Amino acid sequence: MKKKGTATKQVYTLADLKNWQDVDPPIRIGIFGDPVEHSLSPQIQNAALKHCKIELQYVRFHISPAELREAINLIRKLEFVGVNLTIPHKIAALGLLDIADDNVKRIGAVNVIKVEAGKLRGFNTDGRGFARAVREEFSVDLRDLRVLVLGAGGAARAIALQCAKENSERLVIANRSFEKAQKLADELRDFFAGPKVLGPVARLQAIPLEEAAIRFQIANVDLIVNATPVGLDRGDPSPIPSRLLAPHVMVYDTIYSAERMPLISAALEAGARGANGLSMLLHQGALAFEIWFQREAPIEVMRKAL
Ligand code: NAP
Repeated sequence: MKKKGTATKQVYTLADLKNWQDVDPPIRIGIFGDPVEHSLSPQIQNAALKHCKIELQYVRFHISPAELREAINLIRKLEFVGVNLTIPHKIAALGLLDIADDNVKRIGAVNVIKVEAGKLRGFNTDGRGFARAVREEFSVDLRDLRVLVLGAGGAARAIALQCAKENSERLVIANRSFEKAQKLADELRDFFAGPKVLGPVARLQAIPLEEAAIRFQIANVDLIVNATPVGLDRGDPSPIPSRLLAPHVMVYDTIYSAERMPLISAALEAGARGANGLSMLLHQGALAFEIWFQREAPIEVMRKAL
């Protein structure tokens, strides 16, 4: 028997999935994470569902790494539309998919699952969400930019691949573990084979995440992207100090928070422009909605809900 409007739990669990009690509107979509309590995705997805008169609800599921396989099998059985995946499941879920799109294979991480006729299809919307966010924040396309990405993890891989696919003028990958930056650059080498930039600098480069190496690059980059979690914890320093920044650069921090991130503060101090990851969150969510429902996402409604 359906209970109307009982999806009032802040967070659902594997136990809830195992003993599924339907509500009205039914929960057939959500996000798996650990932790997941602070996810803003229900806010934006439920606003979109309501606006589009889709009679479904989107909720948070606290799923530990050990529970992921069972939880994913259950959403298949319960005929969910799909789920988002966040930390720490984006890589682990790869092995549980029936079909992975090209982005997922190249990035090695999945953030959207769609259940299609009992099959689990994986997508990654972080890169395209990032491209849309940059266009919105700075009125410029990735293809016209020389980009410096800080990090070489899941988010950085999605962003770097997007820059490659959109034929950015230049891409520099800076990572604490230099060999990971090198590996990522090697994977993208074919995209940057053609000449584009005049001058002595290489179109594609990996560097260590160190002050001297970054200082050397600043004159030849337009956009700096933080794709590390540095800045997430209160008291974190900026991933690069303001003395390295210059007024000509745009700075995008993929971390989102109501508070100002240390990197954004550093950018503003240096006279540069800065934006945080809320716009990327919004656009990757809108792309997920479009994958699940095969219709345009009501972006302004979703933005307002944030
Ligand atoms: P990840 O796969 O764990 O990668 C983390 C990266 O950060 C690695 O390159 C790591 O370097 C580097 N790193 C970690 N701690 C560091 C430190 N103390 N100093 C310097 N580098 C450090 O994580 P992820 O999934 O890519 O997520 C990264 C960030 O992206 C998250 O904080 C999240 O907020 C953000 N994100 C935002 C959105 C959005 O929609 N706005 C979407 C996805 C992710 P090593 O290789 O040396 O370990």
